[in-house]
Amino acid sequence: MKQVFVDSDLTRVSFARNLLEAEGIACFIQNENTRTLGPSIAGYSYTHLLDPALCILDDAQWEKAMELVTTHFHNEAAEGPEWRCGSCQETNPGAFDLCWNCGAERVA
Ligand SMILES: [Zn+2]
Repeated sequence: MKQVFVDSDLTRVSFARNLLEAEGIACFIQNENTRTLGPSIAGYSYTHLLDPALCILDDAQWEKAMELVTTHFHNEAAEGPEWRCGSCQETNPGAFDLCWNCGAERVA
């Protein structure tokens, strides 16, 4: 098991997971639930340890996974700003034409 991508924003980590799954790379997100609970706890100071982390199961796929993730996030800035889904209100990366969460089409 190896970590591929860590970000305080679960949306970005979930997106990275979708990228890998589309390539047939088995992966999962650590701290997915922990992080979700964070903001609702009064006086909660969250540490970097609780950031959602994308991990792959097969270390042999690590290089490919890293390439997929870094290529995407490297290009992200050039692909325009994030947008909010009109259907489920989820935030999507600028490169997406469909909502990663519910599949609704992007409405400009
Ligand atoms: Zn949506």
